[in-house]
Amino acid sequence: MSGRAQLMWDEAVTGYDFGRDHPMDPVRLALTRSLVGALGLDREVEVVAAKAAGESTLRLVHREDYIDAVKAASADPAAADMSYGLGTLDDPAFAGMHEVSALIAGQSVGAAEAVWRGDAAHAVNFAGGLHHAMPGAASGFCVYNDAALAIARLLELGAERVAYIDVDVHHGDGVQAAFWEDPRVLTISLHEHPRTLFPQTGWPEETGAGSAEGSAVNVALPAGTGDAGWLRAFHAVVPELLADFRPQVLVTQHGADTHFEDPLAHLAVSLDAQRAVQVACHELAHEYAGGRWVALGGGGYAVVEVVPRSWTHLVGIAAGREVEPETVIPEGWRQEVYARTRQLGPVRMTDGRWPVGWAAWEDGYDPADRLDQAVLATRRAVFPLRGMLA
Ligand SMILES: [Zn+2]
Repeated sequence: MSGRAQLMWDEAVTGYDFGRDHPMDPVRLALTRSLVGALGLDREVEVVAAKAAGESTLRLVHREDYIDAVKAASADPAAADMSYGLGTLDDPAFAGMHEVSALIAGQSVGAAEAVWRGDAAHAVNFAGGLHHAMPGAASGFCVYNDAALAIARLLELGAERVAYIDVDVHHGDGVQAAFWEDPRVLTISLHEHPRTLFPQTGWPEETGAGSAEGSAVNVALPAGTGDAGWLRAFHAVVPELLADFRPQVLVTQHGADTHFEDPLAHLAVSLDAQRAVQVACHELAHEYAGGRWVALGGGGYAVVEVVPRSWTHLVGIAAGREVEPETVIPEGWRQEVYARTRQLGPVRMTDGRWPVGWAAWEDGYDPADRLDQAVLATRRAVFPLRGMLA
């Protein structure tokens, strides 16, 4: 494995736009790309525009009748078929929807191909991570499931063990569903508890089916969980599972909606903790997956304050040039933020919580603590299925 990290980017991905009042404003992608440039990180990576995912690739995960329904809605948004989740409040139909969704999927598939073939050790598609899309339906702002498609492509290329880690505040339900009965894919999702958040799945008892029992892992975190609890839960579950599973490739989804400023969810994680998990994923890829790492974006609706900084850190980590938290953001970028959004952009690449402290699970736990109860529920539901000690 060689070469610089790849950043997957085609300006046209900003056409993934559900309209003015929708929370998933594509300005978050444009501002991330320009912050990457403002900090000079685009000179540290190979910027690559992959081609859109074609029909045969989309069918690795999606049903033909659903793809046809997306194409029809894309050509005539007014005729969207709501039985496929299209034309709904969450997933309004828009002209060109099929093409731009396939383009985003193509970036993740291209990232997977580059990493599998060794063209790059790491590849990032922050426009991707659309983890709620189901084989036969749009859901939760997601049309095509680029994360599942990247994994499916890795399997098609011959991968036998792919691990997927999803730290978006919402459960990675579409990816879990795609590989529910496939023991070659270990899906791990840490998210806010389904009792208080969409999509109301991701209970610890969801562990996969048939020969894949124990290959779906869900950590359902109490609303209000902050930095120390979030990092503690991550480290109490993820490294042991990877050590056991021995993935050949690591695919990670970095939805930034765990942040305390995020308007759609209720965790209280800072940018600094998000960065710490990105660093951990990078290290885990090297420790357990031969360095092969595909990193994706995901949710994130604080589109000025949080998303661009979070995913710029991700690009820096993949590029091998981590951005120091105290870094002052160039004034030119803040001017662009104001021009595009009439909001004031953040000044530094930190929320002031660096370094983030947390207590290791190995040093003991408290059965009366709600966070520890969440971790225990996951370990007890899954670890024995894999022959591991809970
Ligand atoms: Zn999300």
